[in-house]
Amino acid sequence: MTPQEQAWREQRTAVIRKYEETEKRTDFIDDDEIRRILESRAHPDRPQIEEVLAKARELKGLTPEEAAVLINCRDPELVQEVFATARWIKEEVYGNRIVLFAPLYLSSPCVNNCAYCGFRHTNDAVTKRTLSLEELEQEVRILISKGHKRLIVVYGEHPESDIDYMCRTIEKIYSIKKGRGEIRRVNVNAPPLTVEEYRRVKDVGIGTYQVFQETYHHATYRKMHPANTPKGSYRWRLFAQHRAQEAGIDDVAIGALFGLYDWRFEVLGLIIHARDLEREFGVGPHTISFPRLEPALNTPLTTNSPYLVSDEDFKKVIAVLRCAVPYTGMILTCRERPEFRREAIRLGISQVDAGSRIAVGGYAEMEREHIPDRQQFQLGDTRSLDEFIYELCQDGYIPSFCTSCYRAARTGCHFMSFAKKGLVKNFCIPNAALTFKEYLLDYASPQTRALGEEVIGHYLEWFNQKMPKRTPQLHKLLQQVEAGERDVKF
Ligand code: SAM
Ligand code: SF4
Repeated sequence: MTPQEQAWREQRTAVIRKYEETEKRTDFIDDDEIRRILESRAHPDRPQIEEVLAKARELKGLTPEEAAVLINCRDPELVQEVFATARWIKEEVYGNRIVLFAPLYLSSPCVNNCAYCGFRHTNDAVTKRTLSLEELEQEVRILISKGHKRLIVVYGEHPESDIDYMCRTIEKIYSIKKGRGEIRRVNVNAPPLTVEEYRRVKDVGIGTYQVFQETYHHATYRKMHPANTPKGSYRWRLFAQHRAQEAGIDDVAIGALFGLYDWRFEVLGLIIHARDLEREFGVGPHTISFPRLEPALNTPLTTNSPYLVSDEDFKKVIAVLRCAVPYTGMILTCRERPEFRREAIRLGISQVDAGSRIAVGGYAEMEREHIPDRQQFQLGDTRSLDEFIYELCQDGYIPSFCTSCYRAARTGCHFMSFAKKGLVKNFCIPNAALTFKEYLLDYASPQTRALGEEVIGHYLEWFNQKMPKRTPQLHKLLQQVEAGERDVKF
C-alpha cells in the first residue's frame, strides 16, 4: 500500500469511527431473533403456507415471520404455488415491462480487502485502474450507441475515486450526447458516504444510491471484511441508506451477496432492512439486489464457500422477496447464466442489465467477453443488448428504457404511493412503449425491430382495452417518436 493510500484509508476509518460514536440508531439486525424466527417456522404445514400466500396476494407485504413460512416451504407442489404467487404479484404491480440498464465500472483500485472480491487490495492477480474523463467518455459513447439510457456506475473505495471523482464523472456522463442518444439516469453503486458527501452526489443529479450489506450475519461480516478497513464497520454500512435519505436522496437501494452465509438468513435480513427504512422514512428501498457469488481470479472463497446457493434455492429467494416487498423493484444481473435469467425473470424481476462488460474500460474492448485479470468477478450472461431484447420480446415482455418517473420527481414516497395505486402499470407501460420505440428506430437489428414492433402493437391493443380514452394520446406520442422527436413522455 502506498503512503498516500495508507493515509487516505486512515482518514476514512477515522471518519467512520467518529460516526459510530455519534450514531444514535440501534442496529436493527438481531441475529438470534432471525434464527429464532427461522427455527420456529422450520416445518410449515399446507394451511400455514396457503394463508401466507393469500396474504401476499393482498399486496400488503409480509412480516419476517410470514416470509419465514415461505422460505421453509419444501413440498415441491407448494413451492410451485409460491412461484405462481410471485409471478402474479409482479404482473399485478408492474405488468410485463422490464427495465434495462448497463453497469459502468469506473474504478477498481480499492483500499478494502473483502474476501470475495477480485478488486480487493491484496489481490495482485487483478490489474486495477481508474478511468480518465476521456476514457470515460469513450465508454459512455459506446453504451449510448448500443441504445442504453440508464447506467449504474460502480466505484472502488480509494483516493483516486473519492467523492470529487464521483461527482466529476457523473456530471461528465450527463453532458455526453451522441446522435439522438444520451444517458438519462445515472444510478450509483459505491461505498457508503457521510451525509454531506451524499448531498454532493444528490446535487449532481444521481438516480438511486445503491449499497449492498453483503451479509447481514454479524460474525460472517467480520470474517469477510477486515476490521482495519473502512468496510470493516457493519454499522457504517447498515445505515448507509438512512444517511442517504437524511441527505435527501429518496431512491436508495439495498442488497446482499448470496453465498457468504445461509440464504434464508439473508432474505430475512433484507426484509428487515426494507421495513426499517419504511418505518423511519415512510418509504422502503427503491430496489433490492441479490447478486450470487461468482468466481473471481485468485479468490478461492468464490468457489469453495459452504454457502453457495443452488438455482432452486435462488428461485425461492426471488419469489419470497417478491411476495414480501411487492412494490420494490427487483434487479437480476448478468452474473446469472442466460437460461437461468430467462426462468428467474418470470418470478418477479423488474430490472435487468444487458450487454454488460465489467472490466474497467471493458466496453472499449466489447468483443472480449471476459477479461479475468481486470474484472471483479466472472459474468454469466455476455449477450449483446439487442440479443437479450429479442429474447425478452419472444417471451412477451416489453423492454423499457424509461426514466420519466425520476425526471418527473416521482421518486421515494411519491413513487411508492404511485406504485400502490397500480399506476406504475398504467404509466410505465406506455412509457416503456415510447422508449422501446426509440430503441427500435435508432439501435435495433432488423430482426429485433420487426419483433419489437409486434410487441408494441400487442400492448397498444391491451392499452386500448384498459384506457380507451387515453389511447389516442399514446398513438400521437408514438407518431412523434417515429417523426424523430426523442424523450417524449406519457
Ligand atoms: N466497492 C463498492 C462497495 O463494495 O460497496 C462498490 C461495489 S462493488 C464494486 C459491487 C458489488 O459487487 C459488491 O457490493 C458485492 O456485492 C459484489 N461482488 C463483489 N465480489 C463479487 C463476486 N465475486 N461475485 C459476485 N458479486 C460480487
Ligand atoms: Fe473494494 Fe467493493 Fe471489492 Fe470490497 S467489494 S474490495 S469494497 S471493490
